Amino acid sequence: MKLNAHEIEHRLADFNELLRAKGLKVTQQRLVIFRALQESHGHLTAEQVHGAVAKDNPTLSLSTVYATLETLVEIGALAEITMDDGKKLFDRTTSAHHHFVDIDTGAVSDLEDSDAIKLDLKSLARKGYVIEKARVTVYGRAKK
Ligand SMILES: [Zn+2]
Repeated sequence: MKLNAHEIEHRLADFNELLRAKGLKVTQQRLVIFRALQESHGHLTAEQVHGAVAKDNPTLSLSTVYATLETLVEIGALAEITMDDGKKLFDRTTSAHHHFVDIDTGAVSDLEDSDAIKLDLKSLARKGYVIEKARVTVYGRAKK
């Protein structure tokens, strides 16, 4: 899902604050990489981020994009998810949520609250586990 321009600006303002709070410089490359995720449908590989920023930032290398994405994950500005095929995606939504993968196109989207999956994790609690996160990936394809 695409965010509107107002929401993107709001997220960029929060991101500026987060960088400062973490003692990191607000650099052009951090801003353009964070913005690329906000302007996307929400989930991109490092290569896709690089592709999105390369036109306006020809000096930004793929390895710099990788390193910057890792930094943004470390400070909690982005999340990183690993799909079943081993592909790593960077996710602009950092709170716990579930995903839908279109098998035919590979497109990954967040499941809306209305599609909420209720997990019964009580049995794990009874076994003495404390749940830290639970992430479900649903796979499907468009009806033909
Ligand atoms: Zn997501």
